[in-house]
Amino acid sequence: MENFNVVEQFGIDVFNEETMRQRLPKNVFKTLKKTIAEGKELDSSIADIVANAMKDWAIEKGATHYTHWFQPMTGITAEKHDSFISPTNEGTVIMEFSGKELIKGEPDASSFPSGGIRATFEARGYTAWDPTSYAFVKGGSLYIPTAFYSYSGEALDKKTPLLRSMDVVSDAALRILKLFGNTTAKRVVATVGAEQEYFLIDKKNYDKRKDLIFTGRTLFGAPAPKGQELDDHYFGVIKDRVADYMKDLDERLWKLGITSKTKHNEVAPAQHENAPIFAPANLATDQNQLTMELMKKVALEHGLVCLLHEKPFAGINGSGKHDNWSLSTDDGQNLLDPGNSPMENAQFLTFLAAIIKAVDEYSDLLRMSVASPGNDHRLGANEAPPAIISIFLGEELQGVVDALVEGKEYTSNGKQMFNVGVSSLPDFPKDSTDRNRTSPFAFTGNKFEFRMVGSNLNIAGPNTILNTIVANSLTEFADELEGAENFNEALHDLLVKTISEHKRVIFNGNGYGDEWPVEAEKRGLPNLKSTVDAVACITSPKNIALFKKFGVYSEVELHSRQEILFENYSKVINIEALTAADMAKTEILPAVMKFAKDVCDIAASKKAIGLEPTVETEMAKKVNDLTAALSEKAYALSDAVVKAQEVEGEEAKARCYHDEVFSTMQSLRAVADELETIVGEEYWPYPTYDELLFNV
Ligand code: ADP
Ligand code: MG
Repeated sequence: MENFNVVEQFGIDVFNEETMRQRLPKNVFKTLKKTIAEGKELDSSIADIVANAMKDWAIEKGATHYTHWFQPMTGITAEKHDSFISPTNEGTVIMEFSGKELIKGEPDASSFPSGGIRATFEARGYTAWDPTSYAFVKGGSLYIPTAFYSYSGEALDKKTPLLRSMDVVSDAALRILKLFGNTTAKRVVATVGAEQEYFLIDKKNYDKRKDLIFTGRTLFGAPAPKGQELDDHYFGVIKDRVADYMKDLDERLWKLGITSKTKHNEVAPAQHENAPIFAPANLATDQNQLTMELMKKVALEHGLVCLLHEKPFAGINGSGKHDNWSLSTDDGQNLLDPGNSPMENAQFLTFLAAIIKAVDEYSDLLRMSVASPGNDHRLGANEAPPAIISIFLGEELQGVVDALVEGKEYTSNGKQMFNVGVSSLPDFPKDSTDRNRTSPFAFTGNKFEFRMVGSNLNIAGPNTILNTIVANSLTEFADELEGAENFNEALHDLLVKTISEHKRVIFNGNGYGDEWPVEAEKRGLPNLKSTVDAVACITSPKNIALFKKFGVYSEVELHSRQEILFENYSKVINIEALTAADMAKTEILPAVMKFAKDVCDIAASKKAIGLEPTVETEMAKKVNDLTAALSEKAYALSDAVVKAQEVEGEEAKARCYHDEVFSTMQSLRAVADELETIVGEEYWPYPTYDELLFNV
């Protein structure tokens, strides 16, 4: 294989800062850079120049088209390609791309989920360039990352609210920083690193399973004799075929300027992970969307299929996406890094307290932000954090927080101590790196790791919530502290009060233990088990007020998003149920009947020569009973679907899909999976878990 020069190739397909510097006039470059750094809108006077430079660059890279690239509520990305051609009077064409075309697009919005917004407003949608995320060339087109919104300004995508929330948390954090004497920071950036888990299976096996094709997960399947119990896959030697895939993927990601950093085998057989180096939240979102797209595409080129579903296989781990989140100043100070000076440590504690308060007050929204039918299989199962939101601080930080509340000094043997400056705040040691893999929201030394996010989710949603709820705490803090006569005293009192009020959300124990849900209930922490429960909270008065206050979502947008989520839930379960019923009726039943017939034939032959067909009779009886149950449940599932389809109102419909359709589907599965363990392998109509999980 020829050598891939990473340094030369990295970002080669991206119109990044380096390319801009080379291709733009100095003053234009400076203005654009300032725009990007401050998260402002681009001056239209320079848009033409930027667009032209982008076009020339893209054409050199083989592009003939450009597309505004956006992230509608479908969860995947959308693109519509226009060529650069522009006719001349002589019947020829020239290649053109104007500033106007760069800045704004007008795709028809009518076929994207809008959750009722379309009913009240115009169908036209607009896309607006987000200059803070770089344009790139892929497959012969120049891709321009954009936000997507309606004629009347409502967000129709996941990106717009994220960008709004990044502004909001920046403004709020800057107010706090100013109180601590930082007057140079112009912007605070929410930073995100998303660790992406996925499964790889053989395409030939995938093609034989309707459930994988239509739903992305197996709706049937008895466990393989071996699962993940030996812990022999996690960090294990990567097989050649998978290693080749990962290498190819890395190279593709690097060319697109994605800082793919870590790759390894995950806990479940056939499960792997890829993690980039963190980036500003909007860029991290775009890059994660691209990563997921390329994971699937590159897999096909290797005769593999990449499954990004949160729970492709029952009984073994599903896939998540740890969302590492922090705040950083534009001059590079990580605000969740306990500092080296007294003032920095007090500042760190202030941000920490703000986050604790935010997560406690809006845990319902955080839970909602990761709700999806696929993720329902993970949350609360023994592999991902439970559906209860709590914060892990670790022993050291917990000690600091306790000492603060109790007004005591905090000491720790052998660890370096820092003075946190405000005389009455406790000292605290650096490097509290203990780990807890069972917490949904864990402090990991200099960032928080939100572990509830599902592998398939667009991370814009959870990060929008994180940014907004933290902005809310910080704003309340700033309101109180800005007017204080004695800053140190006021800060101390505020921190003690905040942590005392919200410490119930801190839990350093085993989040998978049976005791925790009981304890959490005593503490009054919500436990929203399913998507349907979680989505209901979006439009509670408290949450509407929050989003309105910061302009992250209007009330109309919230109602629309809620409707889309309910609707999506129903649609997904509907597809799953139709697929399951179809497979049961047209694949499993005939296979089982054929097997039963052969068993009966053998029994008859035995009888004919005077042998007693004991085993055959028993087996035939058992299969006969299960076949009857299978048939009955398959038809019950079809009936449940018809009933759910007729329910009025998106919430009630989603609830019916959850309570009736989903549970019927589960009981159908149980029968089919039992049959799978009895019926001969050659009869079974599609590849089993053994073949799917151990055959790459
Ligand atoms: P693990 O959780 O597996 O131990 P790491 O500690 O290497 O992994 O980090 C996981 C992810 O967290 C990486 O994507 C990394 O870039 C990201 N990360 C590190 N620092 C920050 C930060 N300040 N803000 C956001 N993400 C960060
Ligand atoms: Mg992690």
